[in-house]
Amino acid sequence: MEFIVRSPKNKPDVVEVRYDCDCGCKPRARYTRGTDEANHEHCCCGIVHFVGAHAEEKLVTYLQERRASGEDADLTYDLHAETVEAPWGESVDVAYGLPEEPCEH
Ligand SMILES: [Zn+2]
Ligand SMILES: [Zn+2]
Repeated sequence: MEFIVRSPKNKPDVVEVRYDCDCGCKPRARYTRGTDEANHEHCCCGIVHFVGAHAEEKLVTYLQERRASGEDADLTYDLHAETVEAPWGESVDVAYGLPEEPCEH
């Protein structure tokens, strides 16, 4: 997946990671420097991406919780993790899950 990494205007301590999804959306998630947080966006086509601290663990937990509540119970996710470089030079974790079959609308 090709991520676009940048800081939003006037927010040098925030990194926003987005991509151009095949479905036409531009999902974006942000991480704020120095925090222990991760944020995510769940695209309409089923792709989920997390950005920030412990992104992979949070992605796994999120998908388990959804499955436990019966959402996406029929979906199998292919999980990936990588790091991107924030504008301030730090590595930031990015994790994403690709559904084996895209969601139907
Ligand atoms: Zn979409
Ligand atoms: Zn999408």
